[in-house]
Amino acid sequence: MSLRFKALAKLTGNGNIDVATTPKITGIFATNVFTLKVAREFLSDEAYKSLVNSIRSGQKIDRAIANQIASGIRSWAESKEVTHFTHWFQPLTGTTAEKHDSFFTIKSDGTPIEQFEGDALIQQEPDASSFPSGGLRATFEARGYTAWDPSSPAFIMEIGNGKTLCIPTIFVSYTGESLDYKAPLLKATETLNKAAVDVCNYFDKNISRVTPTLGWEQEYFVVDEALFNARPDLVMCGRTVFGHNSAKNQQLEDHYFGSIPERVYAYIRDFETECYKVGIPLRTRHNEVAPAQFECAPIFEEVSVAVDHNSLLMDIMDRVARRHKLRVLLHEKPFAGINGSGKHNNWSMSTDTGVNLLAPGKTPKTNLMFLTFFVNTIKAVHDYADILRASIASAPNDHRLGANEAPPAIISVFIGQYLSKVLSDVKERVSSKFDEQDESMLKIDIHKSIPELLMDNTDRNRTSPFAFTGNKFEFRAVGSSANCANPMTVLNTIMAQTLKQFKEDVDKLINKGEKKEIAIMHVIREYIVESEKVLFEGDGYSAAWEKEAEKRGLANVKTTPLALDAMITDKAKILFESNGIYTHEELEARHEIELERYIKKVQIESRIMGELATSHILPPAIRYQNLLSNNIKGLKDAGLPESSYSNQKQILDKISEHINKASDLVEKMIEARKTCNAMTSTRTKAIAYQSQVKDAFFDQIRYHVDKLEILVDDREWYLPRYRELLFLR
Ligand code: ADP
Ligand code: MG
Repeated sequence: MSLRFKALAKLTGNGNIDVATTPKITGIFATNVFTLKVAREFLSDEAYKSLVNSIRSGQKIDRAIANQIASGIRSWAESKEVTHFTHWFQPLTGTTAEKHDSFFTIKSDGTPIEQFEGDALIQQEPDASSFPSGGLRATFEARGYTAWDPSSPAFIMEIGNGKTLCIPTIFVSYTGESLDYKAPLLKATETLNKAAVDVCNYFDKNISRVTPTLGWEQEYFVVDEALFNARPDLVMCGRTVFGHNSAKNQQLEDHYFGSIPERVYAYIRDFETECYKVGIPLRTRHNEVAPAQFECAPIFEEVSVAVDHNSLLMDIMDRVARRHKLRVLLHEKPFAGINGSGKHNNWSMSTDTGVNLLAPGKTPKTNLMFLTFFVNTIKAVHDYADILRASIASAPNDHRLGANEAPPAIISVFIGQYLSKVLSDVKERVSSKFDEQDESMLKIDIHKSIPELLMDNTDRNRTSPFAFTGNKFEFRAVGSSANCANPMTVLNTIMAQTLKQFKEDVDKLINKGEKKEIAIMHVIREYIVESEKVLFEGDGYSAAWEKEAEKRGLANVKTTPLALDAMITDKAKILFESNGIYTHEELEARHEIELERYIKKVQIESRIMGELATSHILPPAIRYQNLLSNNIKGLKDAGLPESSYSNQKQILDKISEHINKASDLVEKMIEARKTCNAMTSTRTKAIAYQSQVKDAFFDQIRYHVDKLEILVDDREWYLPRYRELLFLR
């Protein structure tokens, strides 16, 4: 019996895994987190203050204090039966990494003790030579360090009955270049803080800190583990490279917001509980559009914590799924023909005085502050659309962007009717000549109806990659498997840069003697005019938009290797270096890493395609071919007329054709790969993999294989079908 049928037989017996009833969330929330409240309890006054200062204002913690903090953290962890600790970080592999050490050690006189010192808290040297560094760490100097990031609280990860203390860290090379997603994000957050505070102070002198906020929405698929295991493509690449559409797809939309299937529901409750314990504030869960697709979203948090929490969530989701004999698919496009998965990044900025800078205000003054940040965001996206596009580029996301289900690869901004009107009013009412100006232009009533209007789903445009949704922007083009840090680093950096420019432009006018509000209004008007071509309210999926965007001069880069070019232009280098985020070398290295990752992904998919075609597809097809030809021969030999076997002959013809074409194409694809592999420039190779391997062969091979799937005897077919993967649980 093939794996497929074993899996199907098992499926009915899987039942639901018993999950204890969900405890009251407040009762378990953050119980495994070294929160400030816990710190208060386990640390001396001095150590506690130092920790708070470091969290609030990035102040350094000295070694002596670090020893105290470490010992406090250990006491807390031991009170929860933790024996090991690890520095937890987010290397450029895209997953999280850990290396566990125990508290246990032996003193020089042989006494065994448990200890955790400041040094171990602050810094570790993981054996890091195999993490991607894009050439930054030549092998002779393969050292990389993880360094404690006090802004993200330590937490305890429970795996089975084992508990590990996780210290969130950044990962840097011996010479200081960042090798992870987190370090640049922290830098960008700080840069944005400074630039935004400067601008806020035009309106309110009391604002002394601005923090970007992020609320992600994670989409994912859930499939049965045994069926998953019978699909080598899912196991190796996280997506199906073959598979004919099932008769029923998502056309009835009966899954969307329908009731969650019981077995999945148990899984969701289980991973939510694990998430709550480590302080991930999950709030919503629901079915998505495609069958077997779901979404969860938390309450938004400060961006760096939100990024950690999303990475942690993806890890927890994967582990808990296995407990339920399920597998979670975080890939952007696990199944052809139905929706893929994204990870909307809801982004805003909030002040230490409690103001959301992207929420329309209630007074003319706070309104002007809102308008300032709103228009600066639009300008930032307009000016740096190419870099923003690069930040979400990946092999899996290429399947999604522009595939009529996710935003197109064209970066545009949706702001809704009402704010469009506000911007055009500003454009009209603010004269470009100062002497004609009176102050009536300052009286724009934004607050009146925006919140109600925009919070209302009717004024939402689901086809826009970057949409204003009432009190935040939603960056929708981010892929479901991506680490949010990269797009967030870029967004925060381009916003910082734009705000700095804004301040300069306004100050110039003030220094010429203009009144502050008038100066601000003028620059806002200028920015609206300069960036309005990025605004688009229509259907982002339509072909008409592609044409229109081209006319407007907006870029539409559909493939990752080319989209990544924007990372290393002079414009990008100046932007990132002048803001202290990346040096030129770091950018070049990251560019190289992204290209290599792209190549590897396409290469693995191509290999799996070839392997599956030869070992899983052709054998049953050929057996069925034999069966048919024997049948025809038998009927012929028995002297029956051709009409009695003409149908069989037709099927046989088709099967033979698809077998030949598929195996031919596989051979040619292997040749194409060889040509690509001989290329020395990473960029050229990536482009070749995209055009000469992926685009040239994937769809074609799949076409013939999927035809065979519906022609060949079902009992002979090895790979679980879409209807089984998507509808059976
Ligand atoms: P939807 O987009 O489905 O309508 P919501 O409006 O409830 O959902 O919000 C989606 C996400 O946006 C949630 O994770 C929420 O926490 C987040 N969010 C709300 N306000 C902000 C904000 N000011 N900054 C960042 N994220 C926010
Ligand atoms: Mg949303």
